[in-house]
This record gives sequence, structure tokens and C-alpha cells, in this order.
Amino acid sequence: MQARSIRTAVALLIPTLVLVGGVRPRAGQGPSAARADMIWLFQNAPQYIAPALSDTWWDELVLACGCVPQTTLEALVWHDAPARGFACPAEEYNANSLCTGQWVSTGDIFIAGRYRLDERVVKHEMLHAMLRTGGHPALFGRLNLGML
Ligand SMILES: [Zn+2]
Repeated sequence: MQARSIRTAVALLIPTLVLVGGVRPRAGQGPSAARADMIWLFQNAPQYIAPALSDTWWDELVLACGCVPQTTLEALVWHDAPARGFACPAEEYNANSLCTGQWVSTGDIFIAGRYRLDERVVKHEMLHAMLRTGGHPALFGRLNLGML
């Protein structure tokens, strides 16, 4: 769980946005707005140490997933995003909706403050990390971790 500079994180985001960018951009906004939202998050959502409960959730998810995790829990960096939600950087919802969580392929996960102990929100983002995809394959639905 090492801190890294915002500049480095943003540089790492360029390929990331391509990865999560398989989704449709918001009408009239597009990738530059998504990139601005992502930069804002890195600048405004401080890192936090995942609670011990996260270990249990991760282990449960590994078993349920039946997959080979593409990362480890220890490699993930958690960020405390605005409590009620935040503008979704990779928008597959409508422009006015708020995200409660966001996985980034750099290994960063943003969770809206009031959802930090919400099992479904946290596991949803963990599954993105585990599968290393910004998309929502059918497994999300099968595990009752579909679009939140
Ligand atoms: Zn998702």
C-alpha cells in the first residue's frame, strides 16, 4: 500500500481509460470529461486502509468466482471518495447518476464514504479487480453483484 504521486497515477490512467472506456461516454461529454472526473478523484479521494472485513469478503469472492484472481487484495489501493457518491469516470449510466465505487486498472479502487462497509459495493469493485475488467460479464449477475 504505497503512496504514489498524482502525476504518476494520472499517467497510468491513459491506458486505463481505454480499458474502462469500452463503455459509452456520456452524451455531450466524452472521454475528456471522464478523464477530468478521474483526475479529480485521484486528487480528492485520500487513501485508506481497507478494514479487516475486506479479507473475508475477498476470500469469499475468490471462492465464489471460481477464477484465478488477476491481482491480490494487498495490491489494491483504496480511496475514500465523497460520501454520497461521485461522478462516474467511466460512464455507463446516465449523466446524472452517481457512482458508489470505481475500480481502475492501476489497482486503485474508489468507494463513496458511506459505502465503505457495504459488502455488495466493495465486492463489486473487488470483482472488477479480480477479473481485471471494467466491464460487467455475466458473472457479476450470477454473484448478485450486478450494476449498482
Ligand atoms: Zn462495475
